[in-house]
Amino acid sequence: MKTTKYSTIYDVIIAGAGPVGLFLACELALAKCSVLILEKAEDPYSPLKQMPFGIRGLNAPTIEALYRRDLLKDLKLHERVKNPHQNAKQGAQRQGGHFAGIPFNFGDIDTSQWEYRLPASTETNLISEMWELETVLTRRAEALGVELRRGHAITGFHQTVDGVTVRSDDQSFQGKWLVGCDGARSAVRKTGGFEFAGTEPEFTGYSTLVDLTDPEKLNPGRNVTPRGMYMQSQPGYLLIQDFDGGAFHHSKKPITLEHLQEMLRRISNTDITISALHVATTWTDRARQATTYRNGRVFLAGDAAHIHAPLGGQGLNLGLGDAMNLGWKLAATIQNKAPEGLLDSYYTERYPIGAEVLDWSRAQVAIMKTDPAARALYAIVRNLINTRDGATYVAGRVWGVNTHYNLAGKHPLVGHSVPNFELECDTTIGDLMHDGLGILLDFDNNDSLKTLVDHYGDQIKYVSGQAKDQLGLSALLIRPDGIIAWTADQPDLAGVEQATGLWFT
Ligand SMILES: Cc1cc2nc3c(=O)[nH]c(=O)nc-3n(C[C@H](O)[C@H](O)[C@H](O)COP(=O)(O)OP(=O)(O)OC[C@H]3O[C@@H](n4cnc5c(N)ncnc54)[C@H](O)[C@@H]3O)c2cc1C
Repeated sequence: MKTTKYSTIYDVIIAGAGPVGLFLACELALAKCSVLILEKAEDPYSPLKQMPFGIRGLNAPTIEALYRRDLLKDLKLHERVKNPHQNAKQGAQRQGGHFAGIPFNFGDIDTSQWEYRLPASTETNLISEMWELETVLTRRAEALGVELRRGHAITGFHQTVDGVTVRSDDQSFQGKWLVGCDGARSAVRKTGGFEFAGTEPEFTGYSTLVDLTDPEKLNPGRNVTPRGMYMQSQPGYLLIQDFDGGAFHHSKKPITLEHLQEMLRRISNTDITISALHVATTWTDRARQATTYRNGRVFLAGDAAHIHAPLGGQGLNLGLGDAMNLGWKLAATIQNKAPEGLLDSYYTERYPIGAEVLDWSRAQVAIMKTDPAARALYAIVRNLINTRDGATYVAGRVWGVNTHYNLAGKHPLVGHSVPNFELECDTTIGDLMHDGLGILLDFDNNDSLKTLVDHYGDQIKYVSGQAKDQLGLSALLIRPDGIIAWTADQPDLAGVEQATGLWFT
């Protein structure tokens, strides 16, 4: 950070210390940028961040990202708690996730279709909670020197060609760049003039903790009925979808016991009785995405850039993916190490991934609706998911195993996350990514590749040696976010040279 006569100038100011803002701050600080996070809430704690409300399913790209930054080992919840939204079975019968409430099990999936997933790959899915994630990320961010000011809501900003002045009530802060990670109602998005395009909700969703007089009247698991959806995932913890066009959520009426009971009786077609209401919150399937993620020196990431129904648990994963993608590109720009177009590739790479997730959530809502056509389609999709190919397809999407960017390159692995090669020195490629640098992984100990990489100073590290399974490859250029920028099965100096020039200077 630079201190002038008037104020401190941070490289980046981040709005919001949710998981996305915190993870982005870690990425930037790892790359030696000065970062200030301004967070609206005085107190980071909320019961909605803890089990069962705060439970979040992490998918393969998120788990890989946390592993690559040595953060995965700090997440312990999944070791002691089962996902309450899934069945309690083990082995092949263990539930792996769902599409529109239609479950698929681990035993249904043909992992041989994922030819580049190596035995050392991290899990495809596991659970954490908002509280755990934010605690782990805050600790890391502060250890890396990030300044976090709580009780500082961003109320406006002004940008020039050189930087951004950010206001929080009567205080001002100077940054070279501003990133809005301030959630679904993002002040940065609204004041920054970003268009937020998309579709209006079909339902109001409820997460609620109640006492039930006769819980056995509700069926186990997720129940998509001709009148809506309900799920009792642990005693008294209910998820409900009422297809009211989002009217109740937008009415801002208090959620009463009577309202919940009427709705639950109607949707479950029982005379269930709620004897006490402890906590309740609502959400919708409104699906919107910023049409651009950048306006000059201001970026959006996470829920600030895209919102959708939490069906199948994708929003947090999407946001953390934004942060992993943006962090190193913004850091390289700040340090004058970015080739032309690097920063713009944040939008071109992340927007289509976000759009796919929005459509994935819309498709689920479309077949969960209460009209006869939706019910008919639901039955057909359920039959398809009950096939091996169907379950494998859905698992690949839900777990993000197939997520990739359309980068220029001949090999089918270009644009994909690097497989977790197990190197002969008893380490994995993921273990070598803790410092956030690019890597040239050379299985053929090719001197000319080493010489080439030496020109890139501390941006790319050269790693040579054999791996247990090299997937027939000769060498790989891996970006700091773990994405393969180039690979080939034969030495190809010209190919590497071209790719390094695209991503590094
Ligand atoms: C019921 C439910 C279940 C879900 N389950 C899953 C799941 O299983 N998997 C998954 O991937 N996703 C899931 N999601 C989505 C996930 O919770 C969000 O996508 C994720 O929390 C987004 O993170 P974020 O950091 O972008 O925003 P947030 O978590 O909303 O954090 C934004 C932060 O910005 C702060 N802030 C707001 N305004 C300002 C301001 N003006 N100035 C400064 N700070 C501000 C807020 O206080 C907050 O700390 C679920 C969502 C819901 C509602």
